Amino acid sequence: MSLIDETHDPSRTSWVESANGHGEFPIQNLPLGIFSPPGHHVRPGVAIGDYILELSGVGALLPDAVGHLLTGPTLNPVLALPAADRRGLRRRLSDLLSNPTHRETLRPLLHRAADCVVHLPAAIGDYTDFYVGIHHATNVGKQFRPDNPLLPNYKYVPIGYHGRASSVRPSGVPVVRPNGQRKAPDEERPSFGPSRRLDYELELGIWVGQGNALGRPIPIGEAQGHIAGYCLLNDWSARDVQAWEYQPLGPFLAKNFHTTVSPWIVTAEALAPFRLAQPPRPEGDPQPLPYLFDEEDQRQGAFALELEVLLSTAQMRADGVAPFTLSQGPATNMYWTMAQIVTHHASNGCNLQPGDLIGTGTISTAEAGGFGSLLEISQGGKVPVSLPNGETRAFLEDGDEVTLRATARAAGHVPIGFGACTAFIIPAP
Ligand code: MN
Repeated sequence: MSLIDETHDPSRTSWVESANGHGEFPIQNLPLGIFSPPGHHVRPGVAIGDYILELSGVGALLPDAVGHLLTGPTLNPVLALPAADRRGLRRRLSDLLSNPTHRETLRPLLHRAADCVVHLPAAIGDYTDFYVGIHHATNVGKQFRPDNPLLPNYKYVPIGYHGRASSVRPSGVPVVRPNGQRKAPDEERPSFGPSRRLDYELELGIWVGQGNALGRPIPIGEAQGHIAGYCLLNDWSARDVQAWEYQPLGPFLAKNFHTTVSPWIVTAEALAPFRLAQPPRPEGDPQPLPYLFDEEDQRQGAFALELEVLLSTAQMRADGVAPFTLSQGPATNMYWTMAQIVTHHASNGCNLQPGDLIGTGTISTAEAGGFGSLLEISQGGKVPVSLPNGETRAFLEDGDEVTLRATARAAGHVPIGFGACTAFIIPAP
């Protein structure tokens, strides 16, 4: 499961010079995606330094099980492969991009990433969003129920809701401020118009690999084998719409107008060196029910990922001012592991399919400085953030650009990144 091999060797370098010392895409990463070079149609690729290697042209050099699948407009066929085949692909790509004997063959298939458009890596059949960031759930719960922030099911059930796959977009696609029904607590009746409390949510995304047949749950010990990789996910949220509409059935139009993902699939294999034990539950918390408990998963079900959220207003960009860091924190503040999320989702027999996307829920720290949404940072809008140029924000304004970043770090290994998950807000129609 946590297989560390020659592809993770920190001394391995690439003949693609910009990969060596690259903050996100050194040869130890090799994330998969779908891109289009200037003037050309979409194709699969792997990010390496400042370049993308086109994989459709490399097919003959790749393992038989994989090469012929890397030609179409999505990675769904690759996601459907067993993990062993994905690992074979990774080992071959690592060899091709490190061994200089392949340089002349492959050089024509390299495209400068800055010249390319990167698309969604998969046709997403279904998107589900969870709520496993316990400090986010607590921080938000406190705003409604100061004495009893977490509902009684939270420590037994990985809470989730079904989102909307059609509105998931890759990094870089602007977000249109949604119109919706808004009703402030002191207003007698709702009105319809642009959301006044537009927010982001810092989340990780799971790209489902091999699926399960309808009616056949995924045992917790097998769940890791159904996860192909990970991304960053911004679950844009209209808080005023959410507060009015969410009872009794949960999030709906407040959430489904747009979801942004970082477009590269950072594979489960690439993250093998960055696994950590799931933090122990606080004293007095219940043990997970048996179908959600696996000792191996508890030993290495978390990730050494540093998460960051940056804000750049239209004014800041006009003035050439660097983005402002809204929050920083580790990804270990998840009450449930990725495997527990997957197993719970399929526990009733619900079938997951290759290319399905699952959000973890907002990941916040316990203390200020690492809150994963403006709802938490501004305490429900009561305490706006002061930006260095004198602007303030309780919620997002038109022109604001939000960027999520993630870096995996572990002693003795080359750090890898997820690539940016970024988008700016444009006015409501
Ligand atoms: Mn969410």
